[in-house]
Amino acid sequence: MTAHLIIKNLSLGYGEKDHDTPVITKLDLELEKGEIGCLLGPSGCGKSTLLRAIAGFQSVYKGSVTLNGRILSSDIENILPEQRRIGYMFQDFALFPHLTIEKNIGFGLQNFTKTERTHRISELLTLVDLEKEAKRYPHELSGGQQQRVALVRALAPKPELLLLDEPFSSLDESMREKLSREVRMIIQNSGCTALMVTHNINEAHAMADRMGFIENQRINSWTRPPKDPSPAHGACA
Ligand code: ADP
Ligand code: MG
Repeated sequence: MTAHLIIKNLSLGYGEKDHDTPVITKLDLELEKGEIGCLLGPSGCGKSTLLRAIAGFQSVYKGSVTLNGRILSSDIENILPEQRRIGYMFQDFALFPHLTIEKNIGFGLQNFTKTERTHRISELLTLVDLEKEAKRYPHELSGGQQQRVALVRALAPKPELLLLDEPFSSLDESMREKLSREVRMIIQNSGCTALMVTHNINEAHAMADRMGFIENQRINSWTRPPKDPSPAHGACA
């Protein structure tokens, strides 16, 4: 069986030819369907650049990205971001302040009929226990609630892959571990395959089926961590 997400020999960077300043070099990664992968690395190592390239917001210099058997990026392919079936959860959530929670969640559902859209929004509000907040605006919600809205907004169109860029970094430190377990449950219940990047090893352990470290512009290991980590796994990378 081939993996759901296959990244092969991927090189990216900035500058005129996408590689004058290389950021990621010859990176390989695979995720099975329904798995949650986490990449760890310090600030500036290229985590967001990698996610942007997978989502199609940034061109790749070499290598390929294949999702569910479809080549999204390669020497000869460059599928538009909106045609990739990828959901993206941004670091600062990026909710629309002038739209209610239900409208935020329904934003990416333009191709659904009105009935389908209403049904999907209500299903997602239930999934994250925010039915009562449907008519509220983002600023009326707590940080943790806003995070859940951002998460289900990204999941709403049933993407093949969900990308999460440091999804806990704007939240209170004391809430992060609890929230990371909650987010893991929501993603698992949705059946979506997900790739998260973070600089925090505890969050990665709480979330990951597979995890690796970005070091020297590539992944230095890509393993299945034991669940329920002992304190020996230590703090921040
Ligand atoms: P991370 O998300 O791991 O903090 P980034 O992917 O944001 O790292 O950045 C990786 C490297 O690429 C950094 O050295 C950063 O300064 C550089 N970089 C990020 N965005 C740009 C850009 N638009 N143009 C040029 N260099 C960039
Ligand atoms: Mg980043």
